[in-house]
Amino acid sequence: MSRLDLNRIPIPKQELGERAGNFGEVALGYNLKQAQAEAGRCIECPKRNCVAGCPVDIDIPEFIRAIKENDIPQAVRVIKKTNNLPGICGRVCPQETQCEAACVLDRKGAPIAIGRLERYVADWERVHPGRVVQPRVAKPPSGGKVAVIGSGPAGLTAAAEMARRGHEVTIFESLHLAGGVLSYGIPEFRLPKAIVQEEVYYVLSLGVKLELNSVVGKLVTVDELLAGGYQAVFLGTGAGLPLFMNIPGESLSGVYSANEFLTRINLMKAYRFPEYDTPVRVGHRVVVIGGGNVAMDAARSALRLGAGDITVVYRRSPKEIPARREEIDNALEEGIKIRFLTQPKRFKGDELSRVMAVECYDTELGEPDADGRRRPVVKPGSEFSLDADVAIVALGTTPNPLVATTTTGLEVTRKGTVVAGEATGRTTREGIWAGGDIITGSATVISAMGAAKKAAADIDKYLRGE
Ligand SMILES: Cc1cc2nc3c(=O)[nH]c(=O)nc-3n(C[C@H](O)[C@H](O)[C@H](O)COP(=O)(O)OP(=O)(O)OC[C@H]3O[C@@H](n4cnc5c(N)ncnc54)[C@H](O)[C@@H]3O)c2cc1C
Repeated sequence: MSRLDLNRIPIPKQELGERAGNFGEVALGYNLKQAQAEAGRCIECPKRNCVAGCPVDIDIPEFIRAIKENDIPQAVRVIKKTNNLPGICGRVCPQETQCEAACVLDRKGAPIAIGRLERYVADWERVHPGRVVQPRVAKPPSGGKVAVIGSGPAGLTAAAEMARRGHEVTIFESLHLAGGVLSYGIPEFRLPKAIVQEEVYYVLSLGVKLELNSVVGKLVTVDELLAGGYQAVFLGTGAGLPLFMNIPGESLSGVYSANEFLTRINLMKAYRFPEYDTPVRVGHRVVVIGGGNVAMDAARSALRLGAGDITVVYRRSPKEIPARREEIDNALEEGIKIRFLTQPKRFKGDELSRVMAVECYDTELGEPDADGRRRPVVKPGSEFSLDADVAIVALGTTPNPLVATTTTGLEVTRKGTVVAGEATGRTTREGIWAGGDIITGSATVISAMGAAKKAAADIDKYLRGE
């Protein structure tokens, strides 16, 4: 291979003809030869921009060098020094806008496939148990006792970071399974649940305790936890409340929030019907509203459940669509249609109140709005109908207000997110920190982890009286 190889090693994928009929993982991951060929493209530039592009500060050049030198255990150690969830991040992080966007090769050709290499290393460790001897990471017990609310990427990261620093940490999770969106939202074909649970176990192996089926705000409040012996609380309860458009017909049978649709498939195992007796009916025609990863996940899940005609409607143009490029390409390859510049007007139902169509408008882009994106404007008289047996609304989420309304002294924004310092995660109430989607609204796994790391460092200082 030449020193400046501008083309990436492609990632093997499950055959197109087969994958639409199963929930098995689509991207199959590199083998050693492919990983080393891809690692060999890294020119080891002194700039190390990729590290600055990683919210959890992985020493990317160092782990890539270890792959080149065929020292995969060392690559595992380097990654795990700062990232406890590498199998997850290697699969779902938007590397194309973070570490890979900062790679110098991005300007000359294709950046190093950092995410795929991270995934290779994490998967290698999983199939070689006991081969990596980790240096002792945990400090002696500090006497500090911390409650973490929520076991998504923010909660897991905060818990692991604090356990390593010697604090006694308990995670309280409302569901019967840990992992947050990683378990109930992102489908199996992008993120196998066995990998999520293995990484959860890794965090628990650091000494973290996990209390499942514990809805904070109902079973116990944050105030009670603080009064009952916890010296600090980290809120990582995410943004699980779906947003709707408030248009006519939203309560018809067959109109789902993506959140409910994906939870039924993932957590209630509808994708394993009839082994699990909890099916989800999708019919033949499915309309998904939205343009993010969630919309693509819902559309591709519907396909795998047997729908034959799936349309994603998105109100802006291809330039603005927020889903990861890779996932849009996968969806299009699988035959899912995306109708850009389209906005729903109402859901139409039959005499039994079942959805039968989504009436839409065409839109065009007007002036930029507050976040700089051009605002879609409805074209009058452009109404048309898309037939639908099921419609799925994937327009984003906000935090569930339960924790904020049952905790005294927490300031919350108009959008329902908890106010917290960017550098520290400190909320307006002493002893309480927050990070992840609860402070940003629906964002990314790695941004949730980055915020949790900062909060954990600050909690550590607080508990040590620094
Ligand atoms: C379908 C889907 C696909 C996505 N795809 C991607 C992707 O490809 N890449 C990416 O980077 N991001 C993706 N995201 C976004 C990403 O998953 C989130 O940004 C991330 O999970 C936020 O982490 P978190 O820990 O803040 O919250 P969450 O993951 O939401 O975890 C919060 C946890 O807190 C628990 N909880 C809530 N309230 C309480 C309570 N009162 N008491 C106890 N526990 C409580 C919840 O049950 C949950 O387990 C996707 C999101 C969805 C929904």
